[in-house]
Amino acid sequence: MKQSKRYDGLDRFRLAAAAFVVAIHTSPLASFSEGADFFLTRALARVAVPFFLMVTGQFVVAGCLQHGSGRLLRYVKKTFLLYGIAVLLYLPIGIYAGHYEKLCLTDIFRMLLFDGTFYHLWYFPACMTGVLLVCFMSRILNRKQMLLLSVILYIIGLGGDSYYGLIEMVPGLTDIYEAGFSVFSYTRNGIFMAPIFLLLGMWAAESRMDDRRILWAGLGISFLAMTEEAFLLRSFELQRHDSMYLLLPVVMFFLYKLLLTHRKSMGEAGTGRAFNRRKRWTAYAVSASAWIYILHPAMIIVVRGIAKAMKVNLLVENSLVYYIAVLVLSCMVSFFMVVMLNALYENKYKRSCFKIEEKKETAVCCGRAWLEVDRKALHHNVQSLQERLPDACKLMPAVKADAYGHGDVLVARELEKAGVDAFCVACVQEGVKLRTQGIKGMILILGYTHPDQFFLIEKYHLTQTVVDYPYACQLNDYGKLIHVHIGIDTGMHRIGVRSEQLEQILDIYRMEHLAVDGLFTHLCVSDTMNVRGKSYTAAQAEAFYRLVRQIREHGYECPAIHIQASYGVLNYPKLQGDYARVGIALYGVLSTKEDTAAWSGYLKPVLSLKARIAAVKILYEGESAGYGIQYTAKQNMQIATLSIGYADGFPRSLSCGVGSVLIHGCPAPVIGRICMDQMTVDISGIENVQPGEEAVLIGHSGNLEISVCDIAKQSGTIANEILSRMGARLERVLI
Ligand SMILES: *Cc1c(COP(=O)(O)O)cnc(C)c1O
Repeated sequence: MKQSKRYDGLDRFRLAAAAFVVAIHTSPLASFSEGADFFLTRALARVAVPFFLMVTGQFVVAGCLQHGSGRLLRYVKKTFLLYGIAVLLYLPIGIYAGHYEKLCLTDIFRMLLFDGTFYHLWYFPACMTGVLLVCFMSRILNRKQMLLLSVILYIIGLGGDSYYGLIEMVPGLTDIYEAGFSVFSYTRNGIFMAPIFLLLGMWAAESRMDDRRILWAGLGISFLAMTEEAFLLRSFELQRHDSMYLLLPVVMFFLYKLLLTHRKSMGEAGTGRAFNRRKRWTAYAVSASAWIYILHPAMIIVVRGIAKAMKVNLLVENSLVYYIAVLVLSCMVSFFMVVMLNALYENKYKRSCFKIEEKKETAVCCGRAWLEVDRKALHHNVQSLQERLPDACKLMPAVKADAYGHGDVLVARELEKAGVDAFCVACVQEGVKLRTQGIKGMILILGYTHPDQFFLIEKYHLTQTVVDYPYACQLNDYGKLIHVHIGIDTGMHRIGVRSEQLEQILDIYRMEHLAVDGLFTHLCVSDTMNVRGKSYTAAQAEAFYRLVRQIREHGYECPAIHIQASYGVLNYPKLQGDYARVGIALYGVLSTKEDTAAWSGYLKPVLSLKARIAAVKILYEGESAGYGIQYTAKQNMQIATLSIGYADGFPRSLSCGVGSVLIHGCPAPVIGRICMDQMTVDISGIENVQPGEEAVLIGHSGNLEISVCDIAKQSGTIANEILSRMGARLERVLI
């Protein structure tokens, strides 16, 4: 299985970087030692912003270069939105503080494009400018040229930042820089500072230098040197600002590589729910770090306000207490924001899913060929079947194969309304579809799921059938908790652990990563009520119940047991179980015409199949029609072409008069061969047939009815097959 990369190191460092940024703006050690505070806030904490830029480089710029401008546009839009919100948030504070008095238009541009309107918000325009610049560079320059250009830009930036003292010694240069400072207040911006770190982030991820000892050594040496650089610059009073150092890119490269190679610790420890919980919290921490960045200046104001209002001087007088107060408050508010926004998003997401589906349900647009699902009939059948069973036994409808062709989401939604809270499907994809469309009940996958898809079972809270003992071991080896029902083979010999294999079954109970929620078997002759059929079924039931007793005697629970499918419920309603897996009967028919007739009234057919009449024409005597010219008109006749074919599930074996459809309540026999998407019928003798009218292929028209069992019989199969093959392109409407 493919192991997706994890970036624990990066994820965790985001919070540290956010804490550094807060430190820069609160000077935690100022009360103790000026030198120590300088080291912390002007040297150590200076890794924070380059770190965020490098992450952007690795995950955003690399993506933009690979996937083109669409991705870029999305990034810029998203960042712009966040920036906009932050600007609005700080607008009142800025106005109150008098930041925006006497602004002219160029000031506003400078603020929005470079300085960011509030002291920390410069990061957003810098990031956007930097990303755009790098993407643009990549179109016209190769890698070396890009690196060279970004280094030159960085050096120019250094001149306006911590090396400004040197620039001031050269009069001509000073003028140029002063002119620059009227456009942007600092050179630590998207043009001079961002590109090099964006590129470094992108390339650090690719570089193969990952001997951690070398990286640690590199980080140690370069960081010491950078600290020295910072103190030297300070002692010579060269700094105009202190965001950029000559050695910062070197430090950042080693630091980032170390974080990238730190990957293991989380993946291996913990399993199941604890693991998931931790994954979720890591995701929260990642988003929270952004909010801490945005919100901490506001929290600085809040803490100062509280200190003033409540006269807690310690809060502001001791710099460390002050720092911790701001940091803790920022973290709390940020985590709260993230959890709240996530909840909002999930809600909105769920609602939008429903909206889309509901629109589909109500918009009755039966264009070409469609299938009508009779809601009343479905509810009637649910009730009939439920009444037949003991009170403790609930329905677990089989909605596999697109709910026997009826439309799985549509049917499952309707069943949930009728109080059904458990479903069974054939495969994992069917389960995922239902879950993503908002079905909340238990969903049991009756068949095999490949190990590569085990993650879907876990992700979508599906329940898997244990198809045999080796399969249980495979499921357990997946290592995360999976909910299962054990299939028991009592005589069908399709899937399931044999009912005699008590030890194997107990072993499955003991498997660490399997939660055994149920146990079931499947009857294979419950539709045949002769002596042999009855005794075989009795033996199957007896074997199953014996096993259940034995498991219970060993002290294990069998929370949900189930044994009957449709014929089991109809023919053996007294069999005990917590669920009955009803399929075909729920849809109001049974496999054969005779069985269906025996239960008519008790069960009502749910499905009708209809198609549009595309054209009406005359076939003159002696003319032939269709592929293979299988039909020749014996006299002048009227024919109609229907916009439905075998690709829609109407069997081709009904060609050439074997099958009929109903138009205006009259039978119209199929003539010629049924095509993939169209077919022709004989409408001689049916009055006034118009193109655009409907033809009924399954269902009622006037006093006549064609049942799915008729079609099954004509094509030599059972109703189940005809239903489950209803074409995917048919529209499904609930009426
Ligand atoms: C399909 C299926 C059912 C439903 O069968 P019907 O005869 O349509 O009611 C029940 N149990 C299992 C294991 C199935 O595969």
